[in-house]
Amino acid sequence: MTTTANAQFIAMERKKLLEEQKEVSEELTHLREFMQAEVDVEPDEGDTEIFEREKNAALIAVLERRLQDIETALKSIEKGEYGTCSRCGNPIEIERLEVKPDATMCLNCQREVERMSRRHRPQRQIDW
Ligand SMILES: [Zn+2]
Repeated sequence: MTTTANAQFIAMERKKLLEEQKEVSEELTHLREFMQAEVDVEPDEGDTEIFEREKNAALIAVLERRLQDIETALKSIEKGEYGTCSRCGNPIEIERLEVKPDATMCLNCQREVERMSRRHRPQRQIDW
């Protein structure tokens, strides 16, 4: 049985995406405010502060990319292309879209892209 994204499913995904878009935007605003806040630290706390800011900068980058994915997914809904892999053009697994409505690639492509990007990733792992 082939499961393809039907109108009802897409409407549900769109709702999820809009909610997520709102959440991510709010989180980003909050983090950016934190980053813009006056830096006034005791010398002893300097390292922690720098670490916090680095962590936030990295988180902002992650969220910005997520927001982009969400926007791309919303646009593809408008164009009637939702659920199609941006890399190979095959349908994205429904199960995958359910857990990750902003997925723009099928599982195979996603894995491949991750495998490729891992090779270029800096040594230090960021652990949230
Ligand atoms: Zn694909």
